[in-house]
Amino acid sequence: MVTLSEADQKTYEFLLNMKMLKRVLPANMPMEEGGIFVTCSDGDQFDDAYQHLAGCCLTHRAWPRICPPNRMGGAIVIPKNSKIREMRGNAYGDDLITDILALSRIKKTPFVTLFAHAPCAMAKEAGLSLAEELYLLALAKKELKQADAALTEKELGQDNAEGNIKVACFVHIQRLDGLRKTYFFPVGQWQLITSRYPVIHGEQWPPHLSDTVAIDDNSAA
Ligand SMILES: [Zn+2]
Repeated sequence: MVTLSEADQKTYEFLLNMKMLKRVLPANMPMEEGGIFVTCSDGDQFDDAYQHLAGCCLTHRAWPRICPPNRMGGAIVIPKNSKIREMRGNAYGDDLITDILALSRIKKTPFVTLFAHAPCAMAKEAGLSLAEELYLLALAKKELKQADAALTEKELGQDNAEGNIKVACFVHIQRLDGLRKTYFFPVGQWQLITSRYPVIHGEQWPPHLSDTVAIDDNSAA
């Protein structure tokens, strides 16, 4: 099983300190009709995230009505520029969007929960850091809502129709001590902080946590 890298551990601690990983509040989740659970196919972590979500659902209804259209990597395969799409072929993300929108209509479950998790073997395979996963998670929400709005317009035959689904993002972490945690991920807050500190592939995020000492070219002999 993969574990959190040292760099991802720093990112995780920073996010906790900044209160950007929040306690999940079941009362705020519109789960009267259950929910769509978009997460990674990782069997080491699925049970824990599912149990958390099912527990939220049970505060709204008598049995958990969770629909899981899983893919390796979960919601982070949705964005068009996801490196996992590059590895798997572009249809991999497109068919996930199609599944989510079909489920929301066929099963009449408009609440979609998008999960990213760390450590994630698939993300590691694609060379993605935790910060890059979160960047993709926020983008996944935006692109899914756009696809939903486009489909709704087509279904109703009118422009500017309001979308059919509600989307919330979550992060599942297995800490170095083995404990597993599920957090609500506030996308608006993330966008604010990343407008100041953009996520860059191959670099520590946020940059001030980097141990890398800048090379002073002038000091060269
Ligand atoms: Zn995974």
